[in-house]
Amino acid sequence: MKAMAGSKNGSAQNAGQLQTPPLGLYVHLPWCVRKCPYCDFNSHQLRDELPAAEYSTALVADLEQDLPLVWGRTVSSIYFGGGTPSLFSAAQLEHLLCAFRARLRVAPGAEITLEANPGTVERDSFSAYRDAGLNRVSLGVQSFDDGCLQRIGRIHGSKEVYKALESLRRAGLDNFNIDLMFGLPGQSTQQALDDIRQAIEAGAPHISHYQLTLEPNTAFAANPPELPDEESCWRMQSLAAELLLENGYEQYEISAWSRTGHACGHNLNYWRYGDFLGIGAGAHAKLTDAGAGQIRRLSKQRHPRQYLSGERIAENRLIEGSERVFEFFLNRLRLREGLSPAEFSACTGLRWARVEDRVELAVNKGLLEARNERLVHTDTGWRFINDIQAMFLP
Ligand code: SF4
Repeated sequence: MKAMAGSKNGSAQNAGQLQTPPLGLYVHLPWCVRKCPYCDFNSHQLRDELPAAEYSTALVADLEQDLPLVWGRTVSSIYFGGGTPSLFSAAQLEHLLCAFRARLRVAPGAEITLEANPGTVERDSFSAYRDAGLNRVSLGVQSFDDGCLQRIGRIHGSKEVYKALESLRRAGLDNFNIDLMFGLPGQSTQQALDDIRQAIEAGAPHISHYQLTLEPNTAFAANPPELPDEESCWRMQSLAAELLLENGYEQYEISAWSRTGHACGHNLNYWRYGDFLGIGAGAHAKLTDAGAGQIRRLSKQRHPRQYLSGERIAENRLIEGSERVFEFFLNRLRLREGLSPAEFSACTGLRWARVEDRVELAVNKGLLEARNERLVHTDTGWRFINDIQAMFLP
């Protein structure tokens, strides 16, 4: 741990120096055609017509309410997440983007991502989304296998996936992510690896790879399907990792793989404990006021009906020291790049000395190590990230 000792001296200059981090804007669009049985996101089955105009008005009012917390700051990324944001037309999203730009400074070339569901994208519509100003797409493929897709209750099959990929190609939107899940009911290791191969062949410069888990309050939790055992899941994950590495992808986060220059800037900012505005039903925000030494967390009402009623704020509170420590490590430890004492002080406004004992313990347990002035996971630590995160609980 000697390599970090220099940073201990450095911590004197960083002590208490909370700095203003980059700022992203998250926009939550909460409706889906149908609720997937494993989904615990804030998503709601669309039973009537999409209230696009009403919701857009609410989003703009929501943003205006939060603006005094970010006066003068520049937004470096915008992310339309859900739900299924691609239920909104390109014209509706363009209208929203214009409204955001009229109220906020958006950095030139800012990454603007749309989460899209292959079951809701009509052929060629990605060109319209591109023309509306979106420059990155995250496609919720989950699997290329029709049987697997059916067993997890998705509304799309492989045909819709290929159509969506073709539409992306035609639009020239080459900055895209493919979301894949493994450990699906009835999935073999070969099928899981075939999903990875197909995503690579589709030219995706970014692949997110998640294990299906049974979350409380979902249809699957109430009526669990039979899932591949732990050993099979471990095999799927490690063979997928080998395949991705062989094909030039780098694992920069627990579940995210990218080719050089294609890491998701918006998500990186979350994991680096950056700031973000969050508008829409159930959206969360984290905002720093460096001058006042404050970090604030806000969340909005989860249910679209309540959100649309105008009663938007669900939570608005300051994050104090021990919570800052936990949140910083919770997020930063997801990243392969690790962290430095200077980053800790800049992001939390706290002295490194406050966590040194726990860091030392993690190093002594062989979970973290100092490398090039940074604190990074050992190979063992990378496999037991939850254990390290737990060491920083308030
Ligand atoms: S499409 Fe996505 S957000 Fe919607 S229900 Fe399915 S998993 Fe949840």
